[in-house]
Amino acid sequence: MNLVFLGPPGSGKGTQAERLAEKQSLPHIAVGDLLREEVRKNSETGQRIKAVMEAGNLVPDEVTITLTCSRITQPDAQKGFILDGFPRNTVQAEALDKRLKEENKMLNRVVYFDISEEQIVNRLSGRRSCKKCGAVYHLQFNPPKNENVCDKCGGELYQRADDAENAIRTRFAVYRQQTQPLIDRYKREKILVNVEAGKDIKEVFAELLLAIQYGS
Ligand code: ADP
Ligand code: AMP
Repeated sequence: MNLVFLGPPGSGKGTQAERLAEKQSLPHIAVGDLLREEVRKNSETGQRIKAVMEAGNLVPDEVTITLTCSRITQPDAQKGFILDGFPRNTVQAEALDKRLKEENKMLNRVVYFDISEEQIVNRLSGRRSCKKCGAVYHLQFNPPKNENVCDKCGGELYQRADDAENAIRTRFAVYRQQTQPLIDRYKREKILVNVEAGKDIKEVFAELLLAIQYGS
């Protein structure tokens, strides 16, 4: 199963991808995590993209396309993958199609996480992420057992710089302008499935399992 998770920031893509990856032994490829890792390492790429990410804008296509296309061709992704946060615009979608075609592969489903912006603001302001393993929590909706400590690896939890109010506004605007149009593209290709992402985490997961198996 080659899957793409598409939806606004904070719609729960990472949370659900983490669960699905575990259940179906598929790699969860979170492009935002790959980029944050470059920033953390302070690599040349990391230095170039840090300010862009903190402001909530998209990093240059050539960076995300190179990172993603090389990641999806690694051995652990041969039996399938969950691509979370890519593509985010038409250029990226075309690059992904081209790369998959070269490998004689295709996308099986694109899952659209459907949710109102009102709910999202709440989610993003309470989000906490693990510095070490990237696991995602919410102070109210999915709290860790011990405050500021990751249940999975004991790493320290932090609030992402781009979860500040200004950056959230920019990310919504970027999503509406550049990413939302992809919904129609995948609808036309008849691979789009909808999940009502405003429900609680368990309900969304149940709907996700049905949607990837039977469509929506
Ligand atoms: P995305 O990857 O789409 O940006 P996340 O998975 O990081 O979104 O979720 C954003 C925040 O919302 C996190 O703090 C997460 O714990 C919380 N969250 C995710 N799904 C739900 C849900 N169904 N109900 C309530 N909170 C949720
Ligand atoms: P995310 O972790 O998915 O919320 O992504 C966090 C940030 O990483 C985004 O706001 C962008 O700055 C950057 N980013 C993630 N995925 C992409 C992508 N496909 N194209 C461009 N920038 C991206």
